[in-house]
Amino acid sequence: MREIKVALRKTSLVDYPGKVAAALFFCGCNLRCPWCYNWELVTVPPENLIGMDEAFALIRKRKHLLGGVVLSGGEPTLLGELPEIIAEIKSMELPVKLDTNGMLPDVLKKLCENENTRPDFIAMDIKLPPERYIELTGRKDDGPDKAREMADKIRESIAFIRESGIEHEFRSLLLPASYFPPKDLESVKSITDGTLKVRAFRGGNCLDETWNRYTSTHVPSGN
Ligand code: SF4
Repeated sequence: MREIKVALRKTSLVDYPGKVAAALFFCGCNLRCPWCYNWELVTVPPENLIGMDEAFALIRKRKHLLGGVVLSGGEPTLLGELPEIIAEIKSMELPVKLDTNGMLPDVLKKLCENENTRPDFIAMDIKLPPERYIELTGRKDDGPDKAREMADKIRESIAFIRESGIEHEFRSLLLPASYFPPKDLESVKSITDGTLKVRAFRGGNCLDETWNRYTSTHVPSGN
């Protein structure tokens, strides 16, 4: 495997529902959400990363303390080595949760074809109604064809995950209402299967600094 650098959270109580987990954060992303607070991983890899061999060794050593491993980012499905990484963790008899933005449905499908590379849990972030994903490319010159292509991919991933039989959840950030009005949240809810978890937006360290003018949001009960 080529040398891959990753950030490792050795113990997390919040990244894998119901489990004490280790979490691996991979660099690089195919979106540029202006509110992204993992932007160092998305744009400039930070210095405190470790190699995959070291990460595997640390997970193996702490295996008896862990209930699973989370693969997050950035966007892990961009990694050609993801099947090997999942297989290696599953060979330690630890379940794998994959966090994804759903932009690469073909990668998700391929992973799920094989027992050794199939995630045990998939969490997909749904940022906006699919037809608005074009706003997340970070480019101004993408046209309607690109918008349709992105919306189709998001819908394809949602449909695949819903039908996969794999434990899953869909997640949305409650972004500031001037950007993400209630009708957009309702639109996102309508394409998921009742597993949508809505979390608060945290301002202050956003990829696009102009987003730091927004204060954090609060999720009303019932969401
Ligand atoms: S929020 Fe997630 S999908 Fe969006 S740019 Fe950041 S890492 Fe990528």
